[in-house]
Amino acid sequence: MAARHQAPRGTRDLLPEEAERWRWAEDRARGVLERYGYGELRTPMFEEFELFARTSGESSDLVQKEMYRFTDLGERTLALRPEFTAGVMRAFLEHGLGGRGRVHRLWSMGPVFRYGRPQKGRYRQFSQINCELVGSAAPGADVEIITLFVDLYEAWGFRSLTVKLNTLGQPETRREYGDKLRALLAPHLDRLSADSRRRLEQNPLRVLDTKEEQDLAVLRELEGRLPHLLDLVGPEDRAHWDAVLAGLDAAGIRYEVDHGLVRGLDYYTRTAFEVHDASLGAQSALGGGGRYDGLIEQLGGNPTPGVGFAIGMDRALLVLEERGLALDAADTVCVVAMDATRAGASALVRELRRRFRVEADVEAKAFGAQMKAAGKSGARFLVIAGEEEWARGEVALKDSASGEQKAVKREALAGEIEARLGVRQTMTRGSKT
Ligand code: AMP
Repeated sequence: MAARHQAPRGTRDLLPEEAERWRWAEDRARGVLERYGYGELRTPMFEEFELFARTSGESSDLVQKEMYRFTDLGERTLALRPEFTAGVMRAFLEHGLGGRGRVHRLWSMGPVFRYGRPQKGRYRQFSQINCELVGSAAPGADVEIITLFVDLYEAWGFRSLTVKLNTLGQPETRREYGDKLRALLAPHLDRLSADSRRRLEQNPLRVLDTKEEQDLAVLRELEGRLPHLLDLVGPEDRAHWDAVLAGLDAAGIRYEVDHGLVRGLDYYTRTAFEVHDASLGAQSALGGGGRYDGLIEQLGGNPTPGVGFAIGMDRALLVLEERGLALDAADTVCVVAMDATRAGASALVRELRRRFRVEADVEAKAFGAQMKAAGKSGARFLVIAGEEEWARGEVALKDSASGEQKAVKREALAGEIEARLGVRQTMTRGSKT
């Protein structure tokens, strides 16, 4: 019978096996963030609509077309967060963190919501890891944030990622750039999509983000004649850029300069970066970020520099799955009992569950059926509570990693498993990327 209700379009359920992969990825990420000295900030999933309108700009697609905006029963206009930065900066100002004149390193993780057309790697509810380094304008801050960005992917098994990098200069730089772009595209207006024509009026840099084939054809023809932001930036921005590149070289981060990489919002300054993965097709951006020295001032705070990024978890996990991220049952213990030992084994199972992941039969199945299920489960350890051994205070422990089976005293069992596991990790096998 068909289910009566379905998850809303663009949303998904994560069934236990998939949720386990997510938890593994989240745990890995938390480890990296902790080692970098970032603190977690949890903000509400909804905020005043006005906050997002102010940070993203009234005319942005995010505000115009993609916002889950609603009025609550108290007539407040609210919106589900479409990204983290606005809420993080709101909290930063609300709690007066900026007044303390120091650098803040913050991360957040969780669902964000955008009303878009769902397709592979594009959902209406998806998850991001968001990091911000607030209070430093130094190139070293950009280098740290980009290094952290890459290290998060590496912790998931991504190898040889290349970060695309550009500088956006200052808002004036982008205005000058926009004017040049407009002039260059003016003779081709009739060949551009309606969206691009609108963007060319409101925010010309966004035209470079187009996915429309007709626009791409025009841009391809103009290749070589399109201006580069890097050629228009002032000496201080240029010095910042050079220092960031030198810092990335020193840290061993691979990057590629992409003159077409833009972020259209007004508060962005200087560094912008992204990573892509070809396997995702048009939705290829895995994550991105940049410097936003104008944002906090725009929200009414004292001018405070900042740099940050957002990583899309759904897309990262899609890529890992396609490449065969195999999370195995490497630390699972399967306990098999007989009629005579079942009662005693239940206490043993409970004891083992204080330290290990343990599977055990609850249906009083026959010994043979339990053995068969244990074989299928892929568990590394098999503990057999046979009648004779049990009477001697022992069980049989089989370690599938070595194929070895031996009798172990019940009180020594946990220690023996622990020793064989070595440093305990929930998931041991990395991906084959
Ligand atoms: P953005 O804030 O647009 O730069 O998004 C940051 C990251 O979030 C992107 O690089 C994607 O990995 C991810 N992302 C953005 N929109 C979606 C979506 N609709 N579904 C899934 N992931 C998304």
